[in-house]
Amino acid sequence: CGVVGAVSDNDSIPFLLEGLATLEYRGYDSAGLAILNNGLHRARAMGRVAELVDKVAAEGLRGRVGIAHTRWATHGVPAERNAHPHVSGGLAVVHNGIIENYEALRDQLRELGYTFSSDTDTETIAHLIQACLKGQIGDPAEDLFSAVQRAVGYLDGAFALAVISEDESECLVIAREGSPLMLGIADEGYYAASDASALLSVTKRMVYLENGDVAQLTPDGVTIADLSGRLVERDIVISNLSA
Ligand code: GLU
Repeated sequence: CGVVGAVSDNDSIPFLLEGLATLEYRGYDSAGLAILNNGLHRARAMGRVAELVDKVAAEGLRGRVGIAHTRWATHGVPAERNAHPHVSGGLAVVHNGIIENYEALRDQLRELGYTFSSDTDTETIAHLIQACLKGQIGDPAEDLFSAVQRAVGYLDGAFALAVISEDESECLVIAREGSPLMLGIADEGYYAASDASALLSVTKRMVYLENGDVAQLTPDGVTIADLSGRLVERDIVISNLSA
């Protein structure tokens, strides 16, 4: 299971697919990605990353901002409908880990009118962020970054998340609690992955997020908020792994 994401000056698809292939060793049952390019586009496939590579090529997907995932099912059988990314309106989420309180959240979100198309704990995160954006939980969040900061406050469990929205076509938001997640800083863009090995194709300059951190990546840079919502600086480390 693994998460990768990118905000690049160039097409992100090659990085996303290479990143997933690098994470294959962690084990998985399905894979998927979402990319922004005049709206949100999604591809998901059971089995090997190579199956996803074929689908992405057949659909001619490309774009500068995207997220991708290899899934090791914990909630919901391995099936394409349970593969990530999970969507709510125009936003998409990939997630490693487990949301312990997803049943209570799912009941609350159903009462707000959300319908679920998978059996995963992860889909609750997508609708929860959407509900924060729409002002169904508190005031309407001003942007995806603040909506994710609010949403993670409702989540119990372990997660590494990456989120994109067609309403913010230059933005990737990531968050972690308990599961590993790091940033990669390159000349042509900003990247995220659950494992340093997946970043080495683009950079050795990395930032390890701390538990409770939520980060916004745009072409202008990276902004990180800690658990209390305070903006923080995290050290850049130079990885000594070789690609
Ligand atoms: N709990 C999520 C699911 O079952 C994520 C699993 C993972 O870490 O790949 O879909």
